[in-house]
Amino acid sequence: MRWRGGRESENVEDRRGSGGFGGFGRGGLPGGGLPGGGFRIGRGGLGIGGVLVLFAISMFLGVDPTVLLNGGGAPMQQQSGYEQGDLPRSSADDELSRFVSVVLADTEDSWHAIFQRAGEQYREPKLVLFSGAVESACGTGQSAMGPFYCPADQKVYIDLAFYRDLRDRFRAPGDFAQAYVIAHEVGHHVQNLMGISQQVQTAQRRAGSGAESNELSVRLELQADCFAGLWANHANRERQILEPGDVEEALTAASAIGDDRLQRQSRGTVSPDSFTHGSSEQRVRWFRTGLQSGDLRACDTFSADRL
Ligand SMILES: [Zn+2]
Repeated sequence: MRWRGGRESENVEDRRGSGGFGGFGRGGLPGGGLPGGGFRIGRGGLGIGGVLVLFAISMFLGVDPTVLLNGGGAPMQQQSGYEQGDLPRSSADDELSRFVSVVLADTEDSWHAIFQRAGEQYREPKLVLFSGAVESACGTGQSAMGPFYCPADQKVYIDLAFYRDLRDRFRAPGDFAQAYVIAHEVGHHVQNLMGISQQVQTAQRRAGSGAESNELSVRLELQADCFAGLWANHANRERQILEPGDVEEALTAASAIGDDRLQRQSRGTVSPDSFTHGSSEQRVRWFRTGLQSGDLRACDTFSADRL
């Protein structure tokens, strides 16, 4: 992906190494292994904020939130060793944060243009870089949850350690795969601005928990993938960001984090009714739909007969 020399966003909040709060360190060893794997929410129980955070992160990682709530899959892990704030920041991390900033700026330019064409005004989201744990208006986020978007404060949260996960655990390396992750979260922000997220939440409250509610989550997620593709289409037309192999990188990421793949990894079987993200094939197809059409209307996953 061509990104060097691009404008950096003014909407990045760097909260890395701020020491977190209440002594959250990070599990895992420096430079190796997976970060954390542990899962802890706030203090003194879950509360509605905690549930919302669960929802937000499970949206990205494709983990069924009830699995997280029951503590299944991700074992609790005692924090040990050092505080995140004590870690020296590497130049690779600085490079990565610059990259994130340029990609965010690119989504701003693209979505401003797309909204303008529709006679609307785009409000830019903030992006918070954190390490270990972070407070959001949706509750406490942990790096092990992966990136998430919090509608209540309109911020995208990302621990750059996730990119190591993406490369090593999900086998989806490459800068465009990383850009896709941001574009997907920004896609959730766009859904929030359009009032789509709220409608889905209302419908889900009516539907209760079950297959219907899950299907709505899937449609929301696939639309965020489509919006990510839409961004890539727009950015490439305006600024020729794509290099050979980039689209494949994003598609690898999209397919690696599909629900079916993740479920098979964790349980050995797949049960479509508990999908909250869509299958790998669906995620790839909707990203491609946005990328190839460049048309907002093509991303209407809610009235699509075939998901
Ligand atoms: Zn998502």
